[in-house]
Amino acid sequence: MVVGEIAEPVDLLVIGAGPGGYVAALRAAELGREVVVVERGGEEGGVGGACLHVGCIPSKALIELAQAKHRTEAMAVAGLRAETTGVDLGAFQDWKSSIVDRLATGVEGLLERHGVRTIEGSARFAGRDRVAVTAPDAGGRFLEFGQAIIATGSRPIALPELPFDGERVLSSTGALALDAVPGSLAIVGAGYIGLELGIAFAKLGADVTVVEALDRVLPSVDESLTKPVVSRLGELGIALLLGSRVVGLVDEGLVVAASDGERTLPVERVIVAVGRAPSTEDLGLEAADLGVDEQGLIAVDEQRLATPRIAAIGDLTAGPALAHKASAEGKVAADALCGRPAAFEPMAIPVMAFTDPEIATAGLTEAEAREAGLDVAVGSSSFASNGRAATLGERAGFIRTVVDRSADRIVGVQAVGPHASELIAEGTLAVEMVASPEDVLGTIHAHPTLGEGLPTALPHIFERPGPRAAALEEVASSA
Ligand code: FAD
Repeated sequence: MVVGEIAEPVDLLVIGAGPGGYVAALRAAELGREVVVVERGGEEGGVGGACLHVGCIPSKALIELAQAKHRTEAMAVAGLRAETTGVDLGAFQDWKSSIVDRLATGVEGLLERHGVRTIEGSARFAGRDRVAVTAPDAGGRFLEFGQAIIATGSRPIALPELPFDGERVLSSTGALALDAVPGSLAIVGAGYIGLELGIAFAKLGADVTVVEALDRVLPSVDESLTKPVVSRLGELGIALLLGSRVVGLVDEGLVVAASDGERTLPVERVIVAVGRAPSTEDLGLEAADLGVDEQGLIAVDEQRLATPRIAAIGDLTAGPALAHKASAEGKVAADALCGRPAAFEPMAIPVMAFTDPEIATAGLTEAEAREAGLDVAVGSSSFASNGRAATLGERAGFIRTVVDRSADRIVGVQAVGPHASELIAEGTLAVEMVASPEDVLGTIHAHPTLGEGLPTALPHIFERPGPRAAALEEVASSA
């Protein structure tokens, strides 16, 4: 309950301290604003957001543990004689917490050093320029803001037939908090979160079944990129039930239905990873004259403004629900509210899945480029012919580039293979910087590296020197 009726004035209020909110707060503080961040904490967040506490960082920590075990076993062929006697997931939880705590302390320190005040509590709009903040033990208060940025992120979606119970039915948050590897588990949903968790638990020794209602995995990703991942699922012994719908949970296990009838999977645990919903429900948005669409997202303009004084960023706006997208929007929103020219118009937002092998994309796919009417040329290079990949014991996957021939520029890069999430940085830069194929071809890439794959993946379409070579020739001839 909110007890204080007198509202405390706040210059710029940020609701939620995830990668969207804290970056926005830091930027606004840098620009001289007095910033207050309200963060409710709890099991799904805290300073650093879902990303730091229950998302990006914990999941990548688990994947790293699983990969270390898997790689140790895989390197037997190279002469490594080692045996993993077991996995102590309790010790993993301590290690993971130490990473999360250290990074959270780092963000808290940054906010403090920038003079940003953080209030612990849950914010809810109580008017166009007013929020009520309630904290479990500290009662409540009102804040009256000049401007505000809503950055409350998202939460896991539950299935009505399979509600989370924290025991047998877990969200990704529950799965990442397990202190023992289950003997068997079903993952419901073959999106990136489901596959990342499924692959990690399979490498840690669990018997994993992935249940997906659609007829393919990773539905938002170009299908050709998913094929090496599907092959790897088979190699890891992961059963993939496509076109299968969850009916419910019984004592014997998870009941799923497909076109050929129903079956019961005798699994110890079920992880439901069917997506995330924007955390906009309990914000009292109507009090601030704000609405949401049918998915619960807040509509914003290119400056991320929902009204002239209120911005919204991150998972609760349209676009990929990713931490770096939230942070980039946070900077734009802060700039816009501080009167600086700003627009969120990236040419490429890198999108990754830390599956095995990893998938990463930036810019347009071939289909998107053709649909946009571009003069498309496509090239690719396989990791099977990359020397560094060979020394890593990895052969699967490829890098593909999409080029607009007429404009002489790279418009898209896709990769599936080892460390694709790192490799995509150069692809993203190429698309964002409007690089020509020649810019990449003319850049010396270190050998032996996976990154050599990018120039090799460019299409062979150039019969005459492009503008870069022509400019260099001109400089040489005038010297
Ligand atoms: P959040 O990070 O969700 O932060 C919102 C904050 O607001 C939370 O701390 C919450 O406690 C707080 N809050 C909510 N309501 C209120 C309120 N009323 N008052 C006060 N505070 C409130 N993204 C990647 O880019 N890479 C990855 O590898 C990746 N892996 C992921 C793995 C998993 C398992 C999950 C679940 C997500 C992953 N994501 C990843 C997605 C990423 O976590 C989100 O896109 C990102 O956290 C969104 O940032 P945000 O700032 O919009 O919101």
